[in-house]
Amino acid sequence: MPTIRNFGRNVRFTPRHVERPRTSAELAGIVRAASKLRAVGAAHSWSPAIVTDDTLVSLDRMRAVIALDRERRQITVQGGMRLRELNAYLHHRGYALANLGSIDTQSVAGVIATGTHGTGRAFGCLSNQVARLELIDGTGQHVTLGRGHVDFEGAVVGLGALGVVHAVTFDVVDAFRLHEVIGTLRLDEAIDRIDDLVGASDHFKLWWTIPCEDVITFALRRTAEPANDRALRRWLKDRVLSVAVFRTLLAAGQLSGRRLIPAFNRFLTRQSGRPLERIVDSHVGFLTPSPPVHREAEWAFDARDARSLLRAYTQLLPRDGHTYNFLQEIRFSKADDLWLSPAYRRDSLWLSLYNIDPANWDAQRTKFEAFARAHGGRPHWGKEATIDAAYLRAQYPRLADFARLVARHDPMRKFRNAWLDDILVDA
Ligand SMILES: Cc1cc2nc3c(=O)[nH]c(=O)nc-3n(C[C@H](O)[C@H](O)[C@H](O)COP(=O)(O)OP(=O)(O)OC[C@H]3O[C@@H](n4cnc5c(N)ncnc54)[C@H](O)[C@@H]3O)c2cc1C
Repeated sequence: MPTIRNFGRNVRFTPRHVERPRTSAELAGIVRAASKLRAVGAAHSWSPAIVTDDTLVSLDRMRAVIALDRERRQITVQGGMRLRELNAYLHHRGYALANLGSIDTQSVAGVIATGTHGTGRAFGCLSNQVARLELIDGTGQHVTLGRGHVDFEGAVVGLGALGVVHAVTFDVVDAFRLHEVIGTLRLDEAIDRIDDLVGASDHFKLWWTIPCEDVITFALRRTAEPANDRALRRWLKDRVLSVAVFRTLLAAGQLSGRRLIPAFNRFLTRQSGRPLERIVDSHVGFLTPSPPVHREAEWAFDARDARSLLRAYTQLLPRDGHTYNFLQEIRFSKADDLWLSPAYRRDSLWLSLYNIDPANWDAQRTKFEAFARAHGGRPHWGKEATIDAAYLRAQYPRLADFARLVARHDPMRKFRNAWLDDILVDA
């Protein structure tokens, strides 16, 4: 059997079987026959969520559109479909997903299982765009859960624990563009004005390259105006600068034995933060082009404390002589009612820890996690985090309900792996 590796190259395992069903009936047979199994999407999570030494189920052969319902403004697709494929299909028919994260290479079932989010004070994680799920649960039964069903809010951010999701219905909106304004601000000023900045556009985020005194600001406003980005500028910005130059500097920073990373980070902020204004299609404007292999942790905090949290976070990371050969991302999302959403009933500020440099990664993550726990953070399920079950219970008031839901749908614990056991122990 081939060894499976995730995007970040920090998770590696060899399952006994890899199954690639073509139909939900075939999938049900696989679930009934297996004693242990995990579903995998695009393996873009840094958490060991997909790890199994038994059966790995990939829906790579189940990635078609099932139905576009123009009246209800909903689309139903198979669970293995990649976001990129869904975006292209919708775009050609005049529709779009209301919000996206930074990339579009994940599978739709994988994205919603971990509560993947973008940015925007009025926008919840992508799981909030789901209207219905169809899955094969641990008993091999077909289960359909629509919005309004008593189990729905527990099942959507499901961590792959209830079963294999083979069809997802999303709400869609009319296709729209994003009026994107990029610039820089002094870090101190950005922190002081954070609430106003976040409120002044629909989708606001910051990139900070440590130890810069400036941050890059991205303010995206939704618009029906036509796109105006020139192909040459798009190529220069989204391919040459964001991909080629960025990757070269990261590699050079590593080669310099970290000495030049601060200087390169300052250069990156100057270049990437050069004032830019353009109107682009939403499924282009939300994305960060082709990020290189790196490590990520990210936690959601109470957005009401954004200013004090940002001050503490920006003081914390550079301490201990730590360098960061990557940008740090600061984003926002709306509270929701999905039991395991990190933004459960709390408007959220997302603070990240990103680095391509493996040398100090463990020490940096330990430091960041201690900070995150001290400030009531909730870890992103798809990123690296040490699982502390007692802490999670305190942060997720519906975790025990989730454990009961999982037990009902997976009484033989077929979908349990070490990661899920750690999350659900004593819940
Ligand atoms: C470069 C990069 C950028 C990223 N940007 C963002 C971002 O902007 N915002 C953000 O929030 N996250 C981001 N992520 C994290 C990513 O969106 C999540 O980890 C997402 O879950 C990955 O989707 P996937 O299809 O690769 O799922 P996988 O990583 O393969 O699986 C994730 C979980 O979903 C479950 N799963 C997969 N398929 C199914 C299925 N059919 N049925 C049931 N369960 C299933 C798995 O068992 C596992 O528990 C990024 C990741 C990368 C690598």
